[in-house]
Amino acid sequence: MKHSITVARGDGIGPEIMEAVLHILNAAGAPLEIHEVEIGEKVYNRGIMSGMAPETWDLLRSSEAFLKAPITTPQGGGFKSLNVTVRTTLGLYANVRPCVSYSPFIKTKHPDMNVVIVRENEEDLYAGIEYRQSPEVCTSIKLISEPGCQKIVRYAFEYARANGRKKVSCFTKDNIMKFSDGLFTRVFLDIAKEYPDIEHEHWIVDIGAAKLADTPENFDVIVLPNLYGDILSDVAAQISGSVGLAGSANIGDHGAMFEAIHGSAPRRAGQNMANPSGLLFGSLLMLQHLGLGDLAENIHNSWLKTIEDGIHTYDIFVEGTSKEKVGTKEFAEAVGKNLGQKPAQFKCAAYTKKVKEFKKYVPKMIETKRELVGVDFYFCEKTSLNDFVDKMKNEGHGNLKLQMITNRGAKVYPGGQPETFCVDQWRCRFTTGGTCTQKEICELYSHLSHYDIIKTENLYRFDGLLSYSQAES
Ligand code: NAD
Repeated sequence: MKHSITVARGDGIGPEIMEAVLHILNAAGAPLEIHEVEIGEKVYNRGIMSGMAPETWDLLRSSEAFLKAPITTPQGGGFKSLNVTVRTTLGLYANVRPCVSYSPFIKTKHPDMNVVIVRENEEDLYAGIEYRQSPEVCTSIKLISEPGCQKIVRYAFEYARANGRKKVSCFTKDNIMKFSDGLFTRVFLDIAKEYPDIEHEHWIVDIGAAKLADTPENFDVIVLPNLYGDILSDVAAQISGSVGLAGSANIGDHGAMFEAIHGSAPRRAGQNMANPSGLLFGSLLMLQHLGLGDLAENIHNSWLKTIEDGIHTYDIFVEGTSKEKVGTKEFAEAVGKNLGQKPAQFKCAAYTKKVKEFKKYVPKMIETKRELVGVDFYFCEKTSLNDFVDKMKNEGHGNLKLQMITNRGAKVYPGGQPETFCVDQWRCRFTTGGTCTQKEICELYSHLSHYDIIKTENLYRFDGLLSYSQAES
């Protein structure tokens, strides 16, 4: 039986590395029925802002997996990142990125590194909710949801258990982003209790990142929000030997996409130089996902043998250790020729043979008491602190009274400091001391409508707890 997959050759180095990977899959006799689609630059250039023609979705839905080469996201307004669109539209919430070192054949300072980054794939600053609010200020919303955290954290523990991993580490910045990253940490610590057989730990992301870069052998599986996961998986792949070595699986309940972790490297395009290993490893994760673990093992072993033979692309070539510097095509041919052979020094590859069913997130209502207690108004005004405070300090309407003014998050009234640098966006907090109604907020809006209001944000108490950031005094 053939497995139906969709393939996109992508941009930059994409077509070369995809050709190399398809050559190896074909040489290994992978039972795949391939449907090719065009995505990326050429499609963007036709004026399709998502980088993918609408009819491509049906093909993606009807095939078992999507093998995608990297694409170039055009700079500038209006264009949407195709990668983000595919991940969110198809609900591919888990991005799994194994980063392994292959010492002594591939040079690395970390010979014992074998880390799997499990990156949340749909939320965080990647939600793409951005605004220019005033001439001086832009904002991007960092959106983190409880279901999103539940799905990715559970996936990380299930992945660890299914793959014989011993520890899951979580990196967040919950000391600063107490609500968004704080939610991620809280869910991590809750779910960890259900997996007593797996060790767990939490690090603030800055020191966690430093430790990962310094002693990656101390980590096993790392689960983290989208942006940190993006950055740290590049770091992890690069310190294992090359960013060109790591593959990535984007997994959801209704689909899966496989790719390299790196981008389209336009500077290397068309030169037969790029390392196809990242995309190859993406395709091996795909074979495992399709229940073809034996085949993935066979290809992986021939790759290990090729690396042991010293046949290396430019990014991992080191005089003395490497024997032959080859191009993308020649590397793929060497892996193809080594099929059926095993490495002499590396441990042989081991892939799970049976597709494991993971315990999934079950949606549930979160029972909580929510009370409206006030509102933050954001104003645009290029003025001095004193002038703005003079104008606003007696504002309010009904029970809603001005409680404080902040600029870039720093409290400037009451009790501000003259040194605080202010921009043209001001936040004024109005509260009643108790609860209030939507109607009172609308009346306040109407009362303040002669000012340049940028936006408002309601303030809530959840189960009696104030659930919004307090400005420092
Ligand atoms: P990049 O990952 O494309 O390349 C950075 C550098 O890493 C390259 O110049 C090269 O020196 C090295 N490199 C990357 N892949 C390699 C390989 N296979 N073999 C050898 N060396 C390799 O990062 P970038 O330059 O920041 O991004 C280029 C474009 O790729 C951007 O348009 C970006 O949006 C896009 N991108 C796409 C994806 C994706 O499709 N999943 C992911 C990341 C970036």
